[in-house]
Amino acid sequence: MLSADRLDRFARHIVLPEIGGAGQVELTRAKVALVGLGGIGSPVLQYLAAAGVGALTLIDDDVVGASNLQRQTIFGEADVGLRKAEVAAEWVARFDAAIAVEASALRLTRDNAATALDGRTLVIDGCDNFATRLAVSDACVALGVPLLSAAVGRFQGQVGAFAGHLAGHACYRCFVGDAFDAEDCDTCAEDGMLGAMAGWTGAFAALQAVRVLLTGTGGMGAPLWSMLHVLDGLAPSLRTLRIAKDPACSGCSGA
Ligand SMILES: [Zn+2]
Repeated sequence: MLSADRLDRFARHIVLPEIGGAGQVELTRAKVALVGLGGIGSPVLQYLAAAGVGALTLIDDDVVGASNLQRQTIFGEADVGLRKAEVAAEWVARFDAAIAVEASALRLTRDNAATALDGRTLVIDGCDNFATRLAVSDACVALGVPLLSAAVGRFQGQVGAFAGHLAGHACYRCFVGDAFDAEDCDTCAEDGMLGAMAGWTGAFAALQAVRVLLTGTGGMGAPLWSMLHVLDGLAPSLRTLRIAKDPACSGCSGA
């Protein structure tokens, strides 16, 4: 299934019993959408491209700003003012021409998210606002697509795996509630963040993404639906919490 040069490229994966040839083929078949190409999206993009994920859809409506360079590591000074989705797609094309990459400068809303995310194996959300996060979550539940949601601020990161379309499992809206649908809830810009925290959180999200993508082969164990991992960069420590499904959730209570 994999050509000789691909077998060579992914040799360190294939030698792992948890991945193997079957797992690598599974990664090659995966179609992953990344929502938000910032501090979290940068390492997610780099590690999923490096892992041989077959198709990447890169969604961000923003342009690169000078203050992004402190943590958004796929961008350089020459990219300031350019669309993040297009610069990111060019990064992927330079890195591995075999990856099918698609750039979208769309701002996802409740009206367009389901169309934009349809057909994906997994959605990873590392965007900077709750309105988009909730629209993405509701679309994932409706489409039956799992969602990895990752967020970071100051010295704390969070990564949660959601499969709200499955009975007994929470969606992202079960976790944060309905109060954040308004567009004015964004606080990250004012709070500040250590750049490396975005890196740790994004790399951890990429690790969890590989786990989810290998659910079929079972190599890395259960996908850990409804589990939220809290990364503390000051302690430093990693805690894991279970998110309960809200029986009255407007996003997933029908599931
Ligand atoms: Zn829910």
